[in-house]
Amino acid sequence: MLGLMQDWPLLMHKVVDHAAIQHPGREIISRSVEGPFHRTNYHEVRHRALRVAQRLERDGIRLGDRVATLAWNTWRHVEAWYGITGIGAIYHTVNPRLFPDQIAWILNHAASRVLMLDLTFIPLIQQLAPKLEHIERFIILTDGAHLPETGLRNAVAYEDWLAEADGDFAWMSFDEKTAAGLCYTSGTTGDPKGVLYSHRSNILHALAANQVDCLGLGVADRVMPVVPMFHANGWSLPISAPMAGATLILPGAKLDGASVHEIITAAGVNFSAAVPTVWMMLLQHMEATGTRIDTLKRVVIGGSACPAAITKTYQEKYGVRVIHAWGMTEMSPVGTTYQRKPEILGLDPEAALALQAKQGCPPFTVEMKITDDAGKDLPWSGEVFGRLKVRGPAITRNYFRREDEAVLDADGFFDTGDVATIDTNGFMEVTDRSKDVIKSGGEWISSIALENAAVGYPGVAEAAVVAMHDPKWDERPLMILVMKPGAAAPDLAAMNAFLADKVAKWWLPDDLVVVDEIPHTATGKILKTKLREAFKDHRPKG
Ligand code: AMP
Repeated sequence: MLGLMQDWPLLMHKVVDHAAIQHPGREIISRSVEGPFHRTNYHEVRHRALRVAQRLERDGIRLGDRVATLAWNTWRHVEAWYGITGIGAIYHTVNPRLFPDQIAWILNHAASRVLMLDLTFIPLIQQLAPKLEHIERFIILTDGAHLPETGLRNAVAYEDWLAEADGDFAWMSFDEKTAAGLCYTSGTTGDPKGVLYSHRSNILHALAANQVDCLGLGVADRVMPVVPMFHANGWSLPISAPMAGATLILPGAKLDGASVHEIITAAGVNFSAAVPTVWMMLLQHMEATGTRIDTLKRVVIGGSACPAAITKTYQEKYGVRVIHAWGMTEMSPVGTTYQRKPEILGLDPEAALALQAKQGCPPFTVEMKITDDAGKDLPWSGEVFGRLKVRGPAITRNYFRREDEAVLDADGFFDTGDVATIDTNGFMEVTDRSKDVIKSGGEWISSIALENAAVGYPGVAEAAVVAMHDPKWDERPLMILVMKPGAAAPDLAAMNAFLADKVAKWWLPDDLVVVDEIPHTATGKILKTKLREAFKDHRPKG
């Protein structure tokens, strides 16, 4: 027997409708790509999203068509998402930090018909345009006054294009399982893989993220996703913030420490989210200028492990609560966050910080387990490492246009490719990507644990640990450091003395090198493949 409740499909436009009806005047403040700050509100953004939908339809865009965006976080990008999905088309976010050839490959693989791009990316797209087989029209996210001569096919300024629609239009209706968004993972090997979100998965994920012990946004929050909308759905904030009626602040193209500081202060941001590098740059800026960020109360730090040293500084010196989060593009992306469960309250400060360095606990909608290589469940002891697998309604079941490749196990769990422990209170800790873990004498050494500990050493800006070949143990850890400007680098003995009470003795690195820069992926992670390649012949001296 079925229940007798209403059929109310979970569609993206319901979010912007709700925000416009309940919170019409709530602001969306952006740093525009043209330069000045721009202010609008949910009422206006909904109206403009309707015009986007109407205008796309007039251009012949239909249910299931892909409309790509190569854009920073601004009000235009947000209204484009809602406009595109409002006719059942699919927003396809493209990460501009990928190699140009990868961008072309992704746009062709997705067969996106339209590309909306910021002014910043015109030179890149001019170079790629001859290779982009499917793009019929380039819409530059600016007004006529700022539009340069581009030579791109059917190029038009977004504002001129939008002016041709009056917004007298109704959202279309379709099944909630209809595709809404497409985002390719920035795999370090092989072709990128497309994750295809649905309306239903986006809405359920945003509801889950808004649980109080997850991101927990509220109507009084002033939320700034520094994490770009092209990085895994902007961690759901462009959906969960309007859902909650929160003020949305969008930092545009400028993500350096000084610019992030300026917008936090100017717009009174109290909640923000970004990868650790952004928070390190902001710290360096504040330390160099003696400034503070007193409006900021909570920050979500994820995408890579957040070292305890960063958490400690933000919490103790600046009064900002750190929510360490883990997730992945395939999970929409939020998988776990630090939760203040009653079981863990009352820990001494050092133990509490160590717990915050773990990736945390899943919200309702995410199920998690660790298994051995044969798929057998492993215990939640906090000690045993295993493959981390996840299941839930906002987790991918197949990649786009690779539907014949199975990616789930027999019980429907997705293998994240991460190696993790889970403790008795359900806190998960990522010890490594499975391909980055260091296998020494048949045992595993966590490169992340060593990196997190090393950045606590005075003057260390960033640390990476990779395996180097060892004739006896097979692999041993090599530590690679970048120092802060002017700081003296430690030698191996000094670093190992510092690490001695933080990790197991046999985990201590066998060598240490100092470099000017550590390479990163397009989503800000340490590019271990490149480091391994660069140091493949490295052997400890003596
Ligand atoms: P992406 O799909 O680009 O967001 O990458 C997802 C991967 O980033 C995960 O599978 C992890 O390996 C890594 N990752 C994300 N958040 C964290 C975190 N808090 N700590 C450690 N690794 C993380």
